[in-house]
Amino acid sequence: MSDEKMRRKNFETRAIHLGHVPEDGTRSVTPGIYPSSTYRVEYPGDESGYVYSRWSNPTRKALEDALASLENGTRAMAFSSGLAAINAVFGMLRPGDHVVTLTDLYGGTRRQFEKHLRNFEIDFTYVDGRDPSDFEKAITDKTRLFWLETPTNPLMNLIDIEAVTAIGKTHDILTAVDNTFATPYIQKPLDLGADIAHHSASKYLGGHCDLIAGVLVVKDEELAEKLYFQQYAVGAQLNPFEAWLMLRGIKTLHVRMERHSVNSMKIVEYLESEPMVDKIYYPGQDGKPIPNKMTMPGGMVSFTIKDADFERVKKFAMSTSVFVLAESLGGVESLINHPASMTHASIPKEVREQYGVTDNLIRLSVGIEHIDDLLIDLREAFAAVKK
Ligand SMILES: *Cc1c(COP(=O)(O)O)cnc(C)c1O
Repeated sequence: MSDEKMRRKNFETRAIHLGHVPEDGTRSVTPGIYPSSTYRVEYPGDESGYVYSRWSNPTRKALEDALASLENGTRAMAFSSGLAAINAVFGMLRPGDHVVTLTDLYGGTRRQFEKHLRNFEIDFTYVDGRDPSDFEKAITDKTRLFWLETPTNPLMNLIDIEAVTAIGKTHDILTAVDNTFATPYIQKPLDLGADIAHHSASKYLGGHCDLIAGVLVVKDEELAEKLYFQQYAVGAQLNPFEAWLMLRGIKTLHVRMERHSVNSMKIVEYLESEPMVDKIYYPGQDGKPIPNKMTMPGGMVSFTIKDADFERVKKFAMSTSVFVLAESLGGVESLINHPASMTHASIPKEVREQYGVTDNLIRLSVGIEHIDDLLIDLREAFAAVKK
């Protein structure tokens, strides 16, 4: 089937069938890996095909074409990590530019903003963002970019992508959405008006906790060229082996996200009945519709343990056996994380406590194991810390 015809198929079919290296002549059902750093040219200055793999590589291109289609974009770029992809977006800014972003953000993103990009005189304002007018109020004449994450990490705040991008457009401000938690199967930021969709592909796109990668997807060709410049001229692109692994991962993205969602809903049901649980942070809780057009909740659940100090919460996090105590998320295996000492430890305590990342907060990445085993595991962990 031609690629053109395949691009008109449904998401699930495209996730499985796109991502081939065109005309590789082998008739292989799955894509090959092209590790070559360089390519034979027909004459000096010939740029009609591949030239050098920092510019473009057949395996990476196969992946990027598939990702562009799944996000309903036109161009995708794969980077060596989610943070490298974020940095490529900021490579388009200039000293003095101002960015409005969210208080609740992945800790490493905030660290890049505060400890790296501020050195280049990029200025940041952090807003709650659940009310889109927060973005409007923070705009200055230097604002160039809205950077959002939805659901946010780890408090699962939902941001109205359509409303925020509409505000951005009236002020000539680009909107980028970190779509790591939802994935394009559940939420398509570009269809909601965003200019850039970003992923830490180390999470659900890879899906098996076996690669580190980042992705940017855009619709606009001019923006694509600017970001492509960042990719090839700055040089943090993804290598072909990881590109191939991600291609394998995305073939099952839709099946995984459905099971992650079913399992996480059952876990939230249980947490609601658990007397030691205080707050639960989850998209679409209490059967309420999810307000930002996500089609299902995904696999991330955070909650706080009632009256628990640091030691007790640490003990809880160390008392599961199916949930593995580890950073990261989005793999088939369930993980448990203590944000205050792990993923969000780089944020000063006063700052994180103020917006809700307290010492008694636990974040679960609910995997696709049998739900009964996950529920028993959590029950046992609560029993271990009962007073
Ligand atoms: C992990 C993560 C990142 C950073 O991605 P890396 O692949 O670890 O560099 C960015 N945003 C979110 C929401 C994440 O969870």
